[in-house]
Amino acid sequence: MPLYQSTRDNSIHITSAEAISQGLSSEGGLFLPDTLPSISKTELKEMRRMDYPERAFFVLQKLLDDFPKETLRACVNAAYAPEKFGKNEENEGNPAPLAHLFEGRYILELWHGPTLAFKDMALQLLPHLLTEAGRLTGSKEEKIIPVATSGDTGKAALEGFKDVSGTRMLVFYPENGVSPLQKRQMITQEGENVCVCGVNGNFDDAQAAVKRLMSDDKLKARMKKHGKSFSSANSINWGRLAPQIAYYVSAYVDLIENEEITAGDIVNVCVPTGNFGNILAAYYAKQMGVPFGKLICASNQNNVLYDFITTGVYDKNRPFFTTESPSMDILISSNLERLLYELSGRDDESVRGWMEALAASGKYIMSAKVMEAINEHFAAGWCDDAETARTIKAVFDKYAYMTDPHTAVAVAVYEGYRAKTGDDKKVIIASTASPFKFADFVLTAVNLPNIQEDEEKLAKLSEVSGMKLPEGSKELFSKPVRFEQTAEKDALYEEAERFIFG
Ligand SMILES: *Cc1c(COP(=O)(O)O)cnc(C)c1O
Repeated sequence: MPLYQSTRDNSIHITSAEAISQGLSSEGGLFLPDTLPSISKTELKEMRRMDYPERAFFVLQKLLDDFPKETLRACVNAAYAPEKFGKNEENEGNPAPLAHLFEGRYILELWHGPTLAFKDMALQLLPHLLTEAGRLTGSKEEKIIPVATSGDTGKAALEGFKDVSGTRMLVFYPENGVSPLQKRQMITQEGENVCVCGVNGNFDDAQAAVKRLMSDDKLKARMKKHGKSFSSANSINWGRLAPQIAYYVSAYVDLIENEEITAGDIVNVCVPTGNFGNILAAYYAKQMGVPFGKLICASNQNNVLYDFITTGVYDKNRPFFTTESPSMDILISSNLERLLYELSGRDDESVRGWMEALAASGKYIMSAKVMEAINEHFAAGWCDDAETARTIKAVFDKYAYMTDPHTAVAVAVYEGYRAKTGDDKKVIIASTASPFKFADFVLTAVNLPNIQEDEEKLAKLSEVSGMKLPEGSKELFSKPVRFEQTAEKDALYEEAERFIFG
């Protein structure tokens, strides 16, 4: 049974329920399993007969084996119910369907959930896991969940946690760094236990404030006296990553089921990346036994990960760009820490050193040994907004298929990788958001600019793409705004204190 240790202290051994409940380890490290369970080729073949919730349960029970099986099954069934992911007739009720568009290129659509981005795949499940984890660990504390978002996590977390008893959530989003629809989704959020605050800064500022809160011992002691403790809904929480592993396994199983491959064939994976969570889930699926080849890390103009993977130097001292793929506008990719821990042979002391260097100087240099391991599994590329737009248009013209800007970044990077390396193995390209979330940019990319009203944009996009207008998108623009407050980035700590103690 896997126990969970911290990337900055591997003497910790706690259950998955405790790891999910805490979110972040007290010394600032991230939790991960001490041993990774495996999935055999026979099991992959057997999974063909399962529907998505059954597959997710099958994968998760291996990783979260301290959860009683029936409880976990109930959590998964509630999270992936047709009411949550089956509204769109195009996906036939499958939360993570594969669209085969190009020769050997499969688009894994992860945005059929309530908030139109892949974050729903984990954040519809996390509240259930967290509630059960509280029961399993015997904790009666109220969970305070501060969230940093680059645009999509915020809404998905709010939607997952609204009115979940025993939890309260505070979301920080970059005021000027999200799309109009993303912002609208958050500031009109319902639920008595949630609060949303715009930040005069970027995602990294918001994430830094959240990490600072969660590793503040004095604050935590004060909270304890009031019967409160922190958890996390960001991908630093293992409860976010584990459900993401399941959809990569399911995608591979679908390829077998559809006779696109035979079990055992190597398939590449390309993922548009920000905080390194989604692509790390693909790495874990590979480590558990799914025959994945290269994991291709796609960045936008904030290409800190591309530079790191190609040079071994992680350096966040660089201009920050506000791009048209805002959910990837990140310079500090938290989940990279988990990969460094794994590939350095679980060397917690080195990880602590690198992370201290990052905090102190914004930079660290990776050892040749670790870089060799990284390059064995990963490739990287990036593209700017102009190329993103050209890619949206090219894919649309050729395949009548509309991609959102994040997915288009992945497509562009993948094509670059394939052209450069000649590696033409089949590939799963993660599609992380619905194009409706970024209607402005997408319409302009396909030469339909100048539509003024937001509602009209969505209608136009539906018309040209042939995609159904997402549920609830019409009401979005008539809903009352509930959260107008904004704060300077240096004032987030005080903002959070006020929220916590009321
Ligand atoms: C969050 C997000 C990403 C980046 O995912 P990470 O797990 O942070 O790497 C990419 N695309 C979209 C649409 C997102 O919402």
